[in-house]
Amino acid sequence: MTPSITFHGAAGCVTGFCAELRFEGARILVDCGMFQGSKTLKTLNYADFPFDAASIDAVLLTHAHIDHSGLLPKLMLAGFAGPIYSTEATRDLCAVMLADAGGIQESEVRHLNRRNQQRGRPAIEPIYTEQDAREVMGQFETVKLGQTLEVAPGVSAIYWEAGHILGAASIEVNAACGPEPMRLFFSGDFGPGGSEFIADPQGPAGIDHLIIESTYGDRQRIVADAATRRKMLARELQEAHAAGGPLLIPAFAVERTQELLADLLIVMDSGEVPEGDIFLDSPMAIEATEVFQNQGWNPATGRNPFERVRPSQRLRFLDKPHESDGLDRLQGWHIIVAGSGMCNAGRIRKHLKRLLWREEVTVLLSGFQAVGTLGRLLAEGTKRVTIQGEEIKVRANIRMLDTYSGHADARALEAWALARRPVTGSVFIVHGEPNAVEGLRERLILAGFPTDQLVAPRLDETFSLGKGRAKAQKGEKPRIPPEATAKLDWHNARAQLLVKLSEVLERAPDDAAREALIAQLRHDLGDDAAPDTSARHEAVVPPNAQEIL
Ligand SMILES: [Zn+2]
Repeated sequence: MTPSITFHGAAGCVTGFCAELRFEGARILVDCGMFQGSKTLKTLNYADFPFDAASIDAVLLTHAHIDHSGLLPKLMLAGFAGPIYSTEATRDLCAVMLADAGGIQESEVRHLNRRNQQRGRPAIEPIYTEQDAREVMGQFETVKLGQTLEVAPGVSAIYWEAGHILGAASIEVNAACGPEPMRLFFSGDFGPGGSEFIADPQGPAGIDHLIIESTYGDRQRIVADAATRRKMLARELQEAHAAGGPLLIPAFAVERTQELLADLLIVMDSGEVPEGDIFLDSPMAIEATEVFQNQGWNPATGRNPFERVRPSQRLRFLDKPHESDGLDRLQGWHIIVAGSGMCNAGRIRKHLKRLLWREEVTVLLSGFQAVGTLGRLLAEGTKRVTIQGEEIKVRANIRMLDTYSGHADARALEAWALARRPVTGSVFIVHGEPNAVEGLRERLILAGFPTDQLVAPRLDETFSLGKGRAKAQKGEKPRIPPEATAKLDWHNARAQLLVKLSEVLERAPDDAAREALIAQLRHDLGDDAAPDTSARHEAVVPPNAQEIL
């Protein structure tokens, strides 16, 4: 049979990376990530896998982030019984992160089912439970960077430093293919390099097919060394303090949080910013911090910059929900670091719900915000948002500090791709929103990659692999249409409409105008029970209502 690759996730969008490799006698997945973002995308997490999980021989896992590892427990529940190969640090982080993801699903489903019951809808099941997540850990087998791993007859793999988060690897796959073996290289997520926390990304040259991420494919970030980065952080803290209220930092529980905490302690110790309590309000980040203390040293410097994090007196770890609730009573200057980084789950939502309406509050976003997430809405300056069904006015100062992102920017992506040359087959550009994929494609063409070499796969698209260019196969339809993978869906649109409606009603001159507008809307929606609006005076409906009508 001809070897092939199918992209079951992070194709046309950023999350849910999962590539299925089919070789003579072996079926292998690279990653099995969870979709995040719009509800349309997230329904894929609940749907059946578009392949037979029991027929998969092994999973090669690049790193612990949920959008790469999050559906592993579901894969086990669907019948996968083979090994999951990862680095030791990735395994340790997965033990924390998958259990957390299982716990989040259980509590979200409980919450949803209460609503479903009230509305007379059927109950739903979590994708997997915390217990399932603990069970899948039994299938992990650890790999060292640089070690040749025999995955299946005729298929081997080598893990390379990705410089993204602790334990993250890019994965080389070598497979028998005619007289000469075929070499594939998966970038996974990789970092910008030059960090004091983590080594620079590495990889081989001379590849048949390259699979490269493109999160920041259309963006160049400020290249900040450690000192500049801390200066930028200090400035944000000074401004947040001057605004008079607390600072909320939605944090990615792994790596970003630990780096941020280490830097927060350094800038506070230096006296550059006013002293204050720092609360880490994320059980997962607290556990991940332990992993970093055990494993998080940079081999290049031999230092463990995370060492200072745990023992600090300024830093308070809030393990228990009631400790987190206690923050509600706190006044004045303090810093709350809570997950998740894109504000789409976790304890940060609770704090945003109670604080976003206050103008003395500052929210500091760090890192990539995917389309459809609350973090993205805030980043784009949305003035009203809906959190857990409640509408909140955004008066807080929303700030961005992108220097803590673990992703290479456009320039670094290009340099990484160039370092892999010669690439004789195809370059698959994945893990990016359409603009980012296109941005990187154009960049790589300018850098000398032939146009026909660069491929932006669609969700569930399959390509035959061999020597030379990969060939797209005519196959099954994608589970959701390509145009739905990276845009706001009707759930987002409905939330925006409701927010707009409240705004218009609020600004209306009086109650009569409000009633007239509601009657008009009900009438337009074909609601027969709506009060008669035929006699209404034009002036009664507020002029700003045109935004909705
Ligand atoms: Zn990642």
